[in-house]
Amino acid sequence: MNLNAGLEKLFAGRWIAGYYPKDAIDRTKFLNSKGISTLINYLGEDFSNITKVRDAVSTYMELIDQIQYNKICAYISLKPTQIGLCISYNLMLSNYIKIVKHAKSKGIFIWFDMEAPETVNDTIKAYKSAIKYGNTGICIQSYLKRSGRDISELIKKKGKIRLVKGAYHLKTNEVFKSHRQVSHNYRILMEKLIKSSNNFMLATHDSQMIDQAIKLNKKYKKNITFAMLSGIRNKYARYLVEHRHKVSLYVPFGSDWIGFSYRRLIEQRHMKIIVRSLFQSQKI
Ligand SMILES: Cc1cc2nc3c(=O)[nH]c(=O)nc-3n(C[C@H](O)[C@H](O)[C@H](O)COP(=O)(O)OP(=O)(O)OC[C@H]3O[C@@H](n4cnc5c(N)ncnc54)[C@H](O)[C@@H]3O)c2cc1C
Repeated sequence: MNLNAGLEKLFAGRWIAGYYPKDAIDRTKFLNSKGISTLINYLGEDFSNITKVRDAVSTYMELIDQIQYNKICAYISLKPTQIGLCISYNLMLSNYIKIVKHAKSKGIFIWFDMEAPETVNDTIKAYKSAIKYGNTGICIQSYLKRSGRDISELIKKKGKIRLVKGAYHLKTNEVFKSHRQVSHNYRILMEKLIKSSNNFMLATHDSQMIDQAIKLNKKYKKNITFAMLSGIRNKYARYLVEHRHKVSLYVPFGSDWIGFSYRRLIEQRHMKIIVRSLFQSQKI
């Protein structure tokens, strides 16, 4: 086994279902049997090659058919730079709308991932054009100082939010610098969602944050789904399901595993978590 294959097996194998849509479908069937839904993502980002963009779009169209055919409980999560944003805004928008419309015809929900700060305006603008279809939500990052305003505006437009801390650590003035500030803002935004939105997703492995959400939601009784990456805290996901909370695991597939795994590895404060998760059983 060469070094690349060895690393792929060690790191990517933990977090990634396999190379093909079928691998993500099979993984979903298994997780569904444990009461867990999935967010399926076809790996790849920053595509400036039109052939790769077309391949990603047709993979998602096929995936939508497969999810419906197999009657599994799965959302799709896709990245703007995977479906054309690096080439043009209009290309990305038309691909996004095409995927959302096809998914709507099959009763499937599309989550729009949020990437680096310079893509945020275009991602939110495209999302606003798609809200009317009713089957799409957007990821919002608590490390961005603007996110409170974005959430207020999107809730007014009946947008659906998936709240994360943010994985693209770029040094700009638009982001909170310390992890403490990012977590503090996450708490504020989470409370805002619990008080003013009905249906949203909290994507975090932070059990203190999840405990707080559960406590606050005893009063508001909103429809919260907790989401985590597959292979990080699988036992905790199962624990939440056993306590009757909705849980979804992010299940990526494809061969383009380097960007995804690299982001997991550069989150240095997660090194302890990552190393622990590699050696802990992730059996569900
Ligand atoms: C479903 C999903 C979708 C995402 N989508 C996006 C996206 O579109 N855009 C984007 O920028 N980012 C996205 N992210 C990544 C996200 O922004 C964060 O980088 C990532 O989730 C880490 O933040 P956190 O809140 O989970 O953890 P942190 O606050 O960094 O850490 C959480 C705390 O949880 C505890 N913990 C975590 N794991 C373990 C463990 N294995 N064992 C024990 N304790 C543990 C530790 O105490 C740790 O301090 C997504 C994440 C998820 C889960």
